[in-house]
Amino acid sequence: MLILSGGTGTPKLLRGLARVLDPEEITVVVNTAEDIWVSGNLVSPDLDTVIYTLAGLIDEERWWGIRGDSFITHTRLSGLGVRERLAIGDADRAFHILRSDLIRRGGTLSDATEMMREALGIRSRIFPMSDDSVSTIIKTPLGDMHFQEFWVERRGEPEVLGIRFEGIDDARPSSGFLEALRKEDTVVIGPSNPVTSIGPILSLKGVRDLIAEKTTVAVSPLDGDRPFSGPAARFMRAVGIEPSDEGVISILGGVDHFMVSRSSSYPGRCIRTDTRIDSIDESVRLAKEIVKLAGGGK
Ligand code: GDP
Repeated sequence: MLILSGGTGTPKLLRGLARVLDPEEITVVVNTAEDIWVSGNLVSPDLDTVIYTLAGLIDEERWWGIRGDSFITHTRLSGLGVRERLAIGDADRAFHILRSDLIRRGGTLSDATEMMREALGIRSRIFPMSDDSVSTIIKTPLGDMHFQEFWVERRGEPEVLGIRFEGIDDARPSSGFLEALRKEDTVVIGPSNPVTSIGPILSLKGVRDLIAEKTTVAVSPLDGDRPFSGPAARFMRAVGIEPSDEGVISILGGVDHFMVSRSSSYPGRCIRTDTRIDSIDESVRLAKEIVKLAGGGK
């Protein structure tokens, strides 16, 4: 099963899928359009969250970073006048250092992901959507800014006038992503931000056509017409789409099985179910339902 993921909603679901399926049956392809270099190291927030989730290390309060991590280096750097765009834990940073070192020596983000996966003993496969750089730029009245500046540094406060993905037209899907698209029969589009997490993955050359041949299951990130968390509704409005499940499906394109919350007003064919997956039990329950649908084919 191939799962498309951002860095919060879909990782919550991965906890359940990893219990319902053999971890080796799971391949995750992760958005990299929120990646950013911080203090000389490449931070790939969504990829890190997926890796730490499958390794059982994720901080489940925040859905970023390693549970119980210390922030000595980050605090020292602040004291020295360095304002890091993201707060990075020490253990988390150790992986960023190894990753960036590998990339500076000519390796790819896929190579670095493989190194982390092996180091942490993860049996599922994990691939970045692309090894080429893509950056989410938010247009605001204060000017254009990187997604992380908008969301973390400015706490999502500026008005969002538009969103663009720098580098997306030239970015190729990673070879691991393409291989998974050839091999897997089922693609699950996880409950992630349709604009900034799933949007970039689906915008990569050839991806939509390849996915159209598969059995597809999508889980909406909305609870009724509101996101469970985060800026999805604002981002949807900024790209001219109503925040509703109709809006979500207009971004994702047609899917075979569309799972929405019980309070959804979606008028088309869909499966209304409990899509809140904060607890492991909730995640396992939804994962079982997904696996059943996926087995049913198109
Ligand atoms: P980001 O990369 O950190 O922005 O995270 P994602 O794009 O992966 O996830 C953000 C989306 O997850 C938001 O649109 C939320 O509404 C959605 N989300 C968060 N918790 C839940 C949940 O319990 N169930 C569902 N269905 N969606 C959720």
